[in-house]
Amino acid sequence: MNGNAMDNNSAEKNKNLCKGCSLCCEYVCVEIDKPETKNDYDQIIWMLLHKDVWVYFDDKNEWYVQFNTQCEVLTNDKLCGIYHNRPRICRKHSQDSCERYGEGTIYKKIFRKKEDFIQWLKEKKVNYNFKGFEH
Ligand code: SF4
Ligand code: SF4
Repeated sequence: MNGNAMDNNSAEKNKNLCKGCSLCCEYVCVEIDKPETKNDYDQIIWMLLHKDVWVYFDDKNEWYVQFNTQCEVLTNDKLCGIYHNRPRICRKHSQDSCERYGEGTIYKKIFRKKEDFIQWLKEKKVNYNFKGFEH
């Protein structure tokens, strides 16, 4: 869930629009600083070595780490088990910009594993390795 979008729809309209879809309830995103130093690159490589952890940046060049893990209160019917008491970030999320109804993916560039990120660093001709050590 990335809670940047604002909610212009009623709760009931939102509930129906999301019917059968739970994409937003299956991950957590946290904004991180854009990597600029060898320590930053090393930290992203460390993140990507973990199962179900991705890193991406969007059109605004804002960087995020994404943990692919389903919300514990999502029901088997793909409904929110605490709909009337769900967190504010869930209430604020709008279908206007979501993956199903919006412009599609929020990713400008996504790294799903360490190799994706290293390839991108090499393409950018970034010197990311510490002296005497190579990823
Ligand atoms: S992707 Fe859109 S339709 Fe699917 S759960 Fe998220 S907001 Fe609802
Ligand atoms: S609290 Fe409900 S709306 Fe929010 S992520 Fe969990 S299942 Fe989805």
